[in-house]
Amino acid sequence: MASAAEVAAMRRAIALSAVGLGATSPNPPVGCVLLDPRARIVGEGYHERKGEAHAEAQALAAAGPLSAGATAVVTLEPCNHAGRTPPCRQALIDAGVKRAVIAVIDPTSRGEGGVVVLRQAGVDVETGVLTAEAQTVLGGWLAGLKNRRPVITWPYLITSHGVEALPEDTSEARLLHLNADAVLRADGTVREAVPGTHGSGILTIKDQPLGTSAAEAAMALYDGGVRHLLLDGGHDAVGPFLASGLVDHAVAYMPYGSASRRPASGLAWPLLPPGFVVASVVKTESFVRVDGERDASR
Ligand SMILES: [Zn+2]
Repeated sequence: MASAAEVAAMRRAIALSAVGLGATSPNPPVGCVLLDPRARIVGEGYHERKGEAHAEAQALAAAGPLSAGATAVVTLEPCNHAGRTPPCRQALIDAGVKRAVIAVIDPTSRGEGGVVVLRQAGVDVETGVLTAEAQTVLGGWLAGLKNRRPVITWPYLITSHGVEALPEDTSEARLLHLNADAVLRADGTVREAVPGTHGSGILTIKDQPLGTSAAEAAMALYDGGVRHLLLDGGHDAVGPFLASGLVDHAVAYMPYGSASRRPASGLAWPLLPPGFVVASVVKTESFVRVDGERDASR
């Protein structure tokens, strides 16, 4: 069983992993904390950007010789394949790590992943530690693998005029962009959160108006490496994505002032699209922000 110190370290690793959101796709955002035999943190790291060192490699580099005999606490099963960087499971073995505590098993490893090789090398491996909590960061990447399309978030303004696009120059929009890989605009152009991250695949939809083929646009972006997509548009532009069931998160921003006026009678819906339920509500500087999730009970 994972010790209290290992569980606590996993929560830190989960928080570290979030630094990679919006920058690691198509790779997963992963965090890693190394504990010495007295349960002190001797190194930690996260996968910051596609093509750069993985979380485990960062943590091993930080710990240096203190990696020998350490426990690696990592949010995702260490990778087993040599790609742009050497496989992490081998780096852990070579560094003399004795135990590995893992939250989420990599669904692409097909039972032949890092865990098997680590165990063969004599490393004590425990899996399934804080899996649900780790999925607060890894959930988007896992959903993308399952659905073969990006997770799609649609932020919008609810005003007395109707449902409008959230202006890109607001702090609310910038916060959402930080956590996403790309923004698909109403005119069909795509803005990457990290320019050049997703190769040329996304160029294929640049001349398509958003929504002429919502599913094709989503798949083209997935093939280009996008795992979390923001839609930038009002109700009309985003309609085809909604109708196709492709919107996963609806984020409504209601300006304070709008509550004191009578809403326009032409509103498609008062707050969230049909099929969405309130997941959380927070007050920001200028808005009430409502995060809507798909109603899982339907
Ligand atoms: Zn790796």
